[in-house]
Amino acid sequence: MNNTEKPGRLVVISGPSGCGKDTIMNEIFKMDPNIIPSVSATTRPPRKGEINGINYYFLSTEEFEERIRKNEFLEYVRYGENYYGTLKPQLDEKLKTGKTVVLIIDVRGAVNVRKIYPTAKTIFIMPPTESELEKRLRCRDSDNEDSILRRLEVAKDEIKCVNEYDYAVVNDELEKAVENVYNIIISE
Ligand code: ADP
Ligand code: 5GP
Repeated sequence: MNNTEKPGRLVVISGPSGCGKDTIMNEIFKMDPNIIPSVSATTRPPRKGEINGINYYFLSTEEFEERIRKNEFLEYVRYGENYYGTLKPQLDEKLKTGKTVVLIIDVRGAVNVRKIYPTAKTIFIMPPTESELEKRLRCRDSDNEDSILRRLEVAKDEIKCVNEYDYAVVNDELEKAVENVYNIIISE
């Protein structure tokens, strides 16, 4: 099987940190067992409540770099001070189930995945306003001030990429955003 002949369907979700990607997708994963997350690897420390193997595979920098050397990543990026990447074997296992697999990755990762899976459906989640994004990042209470400011800087560049995606959804009212994203994922 080559990379374009995939049994499962692939969906890529991007959007600035704090816009609500995980919140929206967690609702959808609960609603529909045929839609499942890909679990990325990262060197960032777990946030409160995050579980290894569920939210991310939390790796040390040495472990992550060892896997880069072994060519285990479909794609990886450096975001802020940390690495994030999609592990090929875990994604292949999930695609084999025939379910729709969702990658929640940054805009650079999305470009790379699209090269390998040109038929992947891509959705960009927009915050309603810049100030609401900042409010959400602060409310999440998971990043220090430096990290919040860096995420807001990165957000400005990420938002410029919205037109490269098949769909854009504004996450203003959560329920509506969930419905919109779900309808896009299940549409043919
Ligand atoms: P991301 O995965 O994009 O980094 P999160 O899903 O972690 O973002 O959401 C960031 C914060 O914003 C969380 O505290 C979440 O509860 C909150 N949030 C998400 N969507 C909404 C919304 N529609 N209205 C208000 N707060 C939201
Ligand atoms: P966070 O620290 O908020 O969980 O994630 C920071 C950014 O990294 C987000 O934009 C998130 O979508 C992105 N990200 C998470 N996993 C991956 C991955 O495997 N690959 C890429 N390219 N980006 C990722």
